[in-house]
Amino acid sequence: MIQANAGSRVAVVGAGVIGMTTALALQQRGLSVTVLDSQGPGEGTSSGNAGFLAIESIDPLSTPAMLRQAPRLWLDPHGAVALPFRYLPRLLPWLARFIAAARPAQVTQGRQALAALNESAVAAWRRCLAGIGAEEELVASGYLLVWESDRGRAEAKRHMAHLQHWGVEVEWLEAEEIRAREPGLSGRLSHGLLFPGAHQVRDPLVLVRRLAQAFEARGGEIRQARVERLIPTPSGVTLATDEGELAFAQVVVAAGAWSHHLARGVGLEVPLETERGYHLTLPGRGTALRRPVGSAERRCVMTPMTCGLRVVGFTELGGLSLSPIKRRYASLRRHTARLLAEASGLDASTEWMGFRPTLPDSLPVIDTHPDSANIHFAFGHQHLGLTQAAITAELVTALVAGERPALDMAPYRVNRFHGRRPA
Ligand SMILES: Cc1cc2nc3c(=O)[nH]c(=O)nc-3n(C[C@H](O)[C@H](O)[C@H](O)COP(=O)(O)OP(=O)(O)OC[C@H]3O[C@@H](n4cnc5c(N)ncnc54)[C@H](O)[C@@H]3O)c2cc1C
Repeated sequence: MIQANAGSRVAVVGAGVIGMTTALALQQRGLSVTVLDSQGPGEGTSSGNAGFLAIESIDPLSTPAMLRQAPRLWLDPHGAVALPFRYLPRLLPWLARFIAAARPAQVTQGRQALAALNESAVAAWRRCLAGIGAEEELVASGYLLVWESDRGRAEAKRHMAHLQHWGVEVEWLEAEEIRAREPGLSGRLSHGLLFPGAHQVRDPLVLVRRLAQAFEARGGEIRQARVERLIPTPSGVTLATDEGELAFAQVVVAAGAWSHHLARGVGLEVPLETERGYHLTLPGRGTALRRPVGSAERRCVMTPMTCGLRVVGFTELGGLSLSPIKRRYASLRRHTARLLAEASGLDASTEWMGFRPTLPDSLPVIDTHPDSANIHFAFGHQHLGLTQAAITAELVTALVAGERPALDMAPYRVNRFHGRRPA
């Protein structure tokens, strides 16, 4: 058994983008920080995302409009929403909460809480990257959302008006303007929306690795270990790991789609599901587009990265243990071939599937345990974990430091669904 003096040491469980931004923010406060992960930094979900700071995504996933569309998306063999039948019985309680979250009052509250995080997201990323001299990882790329069918005009107009109402900068583009700005796209487009203020990162895995390198260069420790359980103690918290027990003054659980297991061990039931998402990366095609491009109808995003052109898609509510469903990659290939003017590189593309951690109300958990002041949580960022990582890190660091965070934290409470489990 390893028994260190807890002192002022803080542990972060999870070396994804949330865990590493948090570890750096804690370190900058002069705390001695250890990150624990069973994999290398960024090798979980944070490695394979679309690399896009989706600050215009302010709508919760569960809305009346989404529920109306869901059956059509589910039944379409190339549709963006998938519920594997084998998993459906386990999913039902979560699904019931998800449907309940579409109540208009809750959607409005959720939108406000997502917008509050997204509004602060880019500035927080700038502070984080400036702190380690890695500003070039964030690119002011803009974002383009396109429609192939003219029938989508009314939907695009509504979407534009909705986002403008919420203060998002957005421009309307006709097909010829899209072609001028994005010659890499196919000519079969009708119209689009341009978000000129949007940002992307150059490569999400490289980004997390740079955060990890800077953290270690400043004396931070990264241990490859699986945390089995958190044990509150009078002086802090002990982590039971596959390497033995480790004592700390405080811990932040940032274990992405696995975080609810650790929360359950300290008496908190958190209804976290995984939205499995898939990607293809086309090596050598990193200049095929000038900025991230989303397809409103196909619900996929293509992002030019240093590692190639990445195409991501699908929301598959399938838990943590099912194998990837191979035909999703074929669907992504099909979408890519239709959207790009020149679709070379598809045969050589690499395939990946990862787990978006999602709560029924689409909001993350950023909170301190209601009964154990030394245990904190930062997880559940669904499609927005990259976007919201740096601001989450600042907020949870304020909680660890016993300060008042810059935002109202009530919407992100850990016990907002169930409260505590009976002992
Ligand atoms: C296809 C796809 C595209 C996406 N595109 C975008 C996008 O463009 N923009 C955006 O903002 N977001 C996007 N996302 C979402 C984003 O990637 C996630 O929200 C984010 O990566 C979650 O980060 P995390 O640090 O919470 O989790 P992870 O990156 O999964 O990190 C959690 C870490 O915890 C470790 N861990 C878990 N349990 C334990 C344990 N018991 N002990 C030790 N270690 C443990 C894991 O090994 C893992 O490394 C996308 C997601 C997918 C799947």
